[in-house]
Amino acid sequence: MNKTKMIATMGPSSMSKQIIKDMIINGVDVIRINMSHSSFDDARQIILNVREIDRELSTVTGIMIDTRGPEIRISKLEKQKIKLNEGSTIRIVKNNIIGNEDILSITLPSVIDYIKLGQTILLNDGSVELNVISKSSDTLICEVKNDGYIKSYCSINIPNADFNLKFLSDYDKETIKFSVMMKVDYLALSHVKDQMDVLDVNDLLIELSDDHIQIISKIENKTAIEEVDNILKISDGVMIARGDLGIEMQLEKIPSIQKKITKLAKQEEKICVIATEMLSSMQENPRPTRAEVSDVANAVLDGTDAIMLSSETAIGKYPVETVAIANKIIDDVESEIDYNDMLLNYNRNDKLPILDAICYSVVDCANRVNSQVIVCSTLSGKTAKKISNYRPSAPVIAISPDEKTVSSLTINYGIIPVKVPMLDNTDELIKVSINTINKMFKLKSHDKIVIAGSFPLGEVNYTNFIKIEEIQ
Ligand code: PGA
Ligand code: MN
Repeated sequence: MNKTKMIATMGPSSMSKQIIKDMIINGVDVIRINMSHSSFDDARQIILNVREIDRELSTVTGIMIDTRGPEIRISKLEKQKIKLNEGSTIRIVKNNIIGNEDILSITLPSVIDYIKLGQTILLNDGSVELNVISKSSDTLICEVKNDGYIKSYCSINIPNADFNLKFLSDYDKETIKFSVMMKVDYLALSHVKDQMDVLDVNDLLIELSDDHIQIISKIENKTAIEEVDNILKISDGVMIARGDLGIEMQLEKIPSIQKKITKLAKQEEKICVIATEMLSSMQENPRPTRAEVSDVANAVLDGTDAIMLSSETAIGKYPVETVAIANKIIDDVESEIDYNDMLLNYNRNDKLPILDAICYSVVDCANRVNSQVIVCSTLSGKTAKKISNYRPSAPVIAISPDEKTVSSLTINYGIIPVKVPMLDNTDELIKVSINTINKMFKLKSHDKIVIAGSFPLGEVNYTNFIKIEEIQ
């Protein structure tokens, strides 16, 4: 059973309930709905479908809503797609006009005031580069640096520029209210720059009395890279959003940034997601390239909680096949990892608080006795997350009577969340643990399982015991 989780982005290729079901059967743990491209109606339908599928399959699938963020786009064009030619000039104006190869307007015209001569402007995810060669109070004149296509409403990136844009647009506020109403598990925040942006969202969540949604800050620009320590401190996790990062930063910086942030997230015990172009060529082809297979493998070896598929499952030709291939790569790479080594490298502290010490011991013990599975009872999910953070070799079945806790653990490395009735005592906990495992795994005589929980159950509210059960 794979421990590195998989997130799949929804889109036209994956709207049907059957495709979503097949993706979940093939290893998807969390469904992402990107509000840059989805309507609220579509999002609602997807969420209802996922919940229905979970009931049919007895699975627990997390839901992630991804905000549009404070982004700027070009306005509508005369044609759906227009070619710009190297060496030509194009004007960007404050007036709202329908654009063509000579003139464009943008969704936030006031930023024109902040753009300086010589500034680089990237259109359509970096496909066309412009350079500002002249400017007046309401117009930028730009030289086109390379041949390429732009589309209506495509992205416009202005690297290293700060426009003091309000982080939360009205649309993002609506998105967050919708997410709370639909009880989604994760809110991925696009284009976060610093702690203040995350705090704005936190304030809104408090106002909405939400105590469930976990904030995943997307690290996708230079400022966020510089501020990543502070952002991590007040987020539940980060996404290394290599799509926009690759436009805002030099591409060759991305692999080391990925490694640094993955390590940092683990140190801070926060969720880490590695995203974008993981199996990109599978949008068109049924088989990935060698380099893509290595990229997924590398993310697994870095010890990320989850990898994310984007266009592959949203607009690609082979959404289910992509999921199945990612699942196979994860499975194979994980079978080669030396988990004892990983644990030793990760924690060399002599002194630990009780919960950390017990969770470390659970993992150390499970690795050493070659336990097939770890079971932990968890009310808030804290114990399960801590065990997962030590990256055990065995999957961690997190049993909880709380439905919200169960769905809040879908993204964490190695955790299989299972809802169980409220348990009264430790004997019952052990009985339910063994029953739950028997339904999921074919255990043989002498197989071992490690159980962690609190004793006496209901009287202490932290994990304080470990038991090794040997199957008779
Ligand atoms: P996006 O974010 O897919 O919402 O753009 C991910 C990324 O930029 O990598
Ligand atoms: Mn992005």
